[in-house]
Amino acid sequence: MPAVRSYLFEAVRDAYPETFEGLDPSKALGERVFGGPTPHPSAVLNLFVQQKFMSALPMAYYMAVRRGLDSLMGVCPPTSTRLSPEILRAAIRGLIALREMELRETHRLILEPDASHQCSSSTCPSRGAVPKMWEAHQNIIDRVTDSSGSGTKILQIASLRDVCGGDCYGFCENYVQMWKRGHAEVRKKAWAALPDVFGLRS
Ligand SMILES: [Zn+2]
Repeated sequence: MPAVRSYLFEAVRDAYPETFEGLDPSKALGERVFGGPTPHPSAVLNLFVQQKFMSALPMAYYMAVRRGLDSLMGVCPPTSTRLSPEILRAAIRGLIALREMELRETHRLILEPDASHQCSSSTCPSRGAVPKMWEAHQNIIDRVTDSSGSGTKILQIASLRDVCGGDCYGFCENYVQMWKRGHAEVRKKAWAALPDVFGLRS
C-alpha cells in the first residue's frame, strides 16, 4: 500500500503544487486531474488531510474554498464531502483572509500604481481626474467582488481588460501592463500565504 500511495501522490502532485514557481497555468489544476467524474473539492481535501499529504494541502484548501461557502459545505450525501468542524474552521478562516487580501490588493493595484507606470494617454483615469478615477475604481472593485461571489479568485489570472471589459474606462496601455505585473505579484503573494491562512504551519 505505501507504494500505491506514493504512486498516486506522484500522479496528482503537479495538480496540487507546493510552490508558485514554475506553475503551468495551462495544466489541469486541482480536482480536474482526477478525470472521470470530477470529485468534489471538499472530498479531495478530506482525503488529503486523512492521508497527511501535506505538500498538497494548501492548494486543496484553496480549491475547496474558492467557490465560496455553499460549495465548501458540500452536499449532504455523499459523506465524503462533509468536512470535520476543525477542517471547516480552518477553511473558513482562510477564505476570509484571502477575500480580504483580494480586496486590499485590488485597491492597492488601482490606487497606488507603481513608479514605472507613466501614462501614455492624456485621458487615463490614473492621471488623477478624480470623478473618473473614482468611478473606474468603484466599477473594478464591484466586478472583482461580483465575480468572486462568496469565494475568491485571487489565484486566477485576471487582466484589467477581463476585469473592466470594453475600453477599460480609458486606462492607458502602460497602466494595463502595470496591472498585469502587479497582479502577477499578488498571485505570488497569495500563493505564499496559503499555508499560513489555512493554519498549516505548526
Ligand atoms: Zn495611465
